[in-house]
Amino acid sequence: MVDGGQKGSSLINLLIPPRVKEIKISEVLPCLTSSERIRVVGTTSENLDDLLPALYLYLPQATYNKQSESMSFMFQEHLITIFGAGKITVTNLKDREEAENVLRYVKDLLNRASIYVNRHGKISPELMSCKTKLSPIELNKFLPKKDCGECGVSTCYGFAIKLATGENSPRACPYLDSEKSAEIEKKIHVIQI
Ligand code: SF4
Repeated sequence: MVDGGQKGSSLINLLIPPRVKEIKISEVLPCLTSSERIRVVGTTSENLDDLLPALYLYLPQATYNKQSESMSFMFQEHLITIFGAGKITVTNLKDREEAENVLRYVKDLLNRASIYVNRHGKISPELMSCKTKLSPIELNKFLPKKDCGECGVSTCYGFAIKLATGENSPRACPYLDSEKSAEIEKKIHVIQI
C-alpha cells in the first residue's frame, strides 16, 4: 500500500494548474437501459493514458483494460468509462445538468490522479499487481454494526457499499477511531490521490 501524502499536498495542489481544464459533452444519447434516461460522451483534449492506472488503484471497484486503454467504475448509479485518448462515457443520467455534475467529478478525479503521477511518477506494474478488490460483505466486517445512520447511510452494510465504490470514507463513521479508519482506507485504496 502506498500513501500519496494527501494531507501535506494540499498547498502544492493549489499551485499546480489543473491538467484537465474542461470535459465537454460531445454527444447526448438515449440510455440503453431506460428510455427516460440519457447517456453522454464527454471529451477532453488531454491524453489520459498515464492517469488511468492511478485511478484504477485509487477507486476500489474499478476495472482496467490495458488493451483498449480504458478504465471503468460505478459512481452512484452511473457506469463511467474513461478512455486514454480523452473520451469519457457516463450512463443512466436524468438530464444534461446531472451529466455536467458527474463530469465535474470525473475532471476532479483526473486532476488528482495527475498530481499523484507528477509527484510519484507513472504507476509501475508491481504496484498494479497490488490491487485486491474488497466486496461490501468483506468491508462490513470492519464496521461497528450499530446501524445508527450517523454516517448518512441507514445501515453499516449500506455504508460498506459506499466504501466499496469509493463514494464514502471510513472517516464518516464517528465510531471508528482514526487508527481503524486509516486501516480501512488502506484496504480500500492501493494509493491515495
Ligand atoms: S455511522 Fe458507523 S455504525 Fe452507524 S451506520 Fe454508519 S457505519 Fe454503521
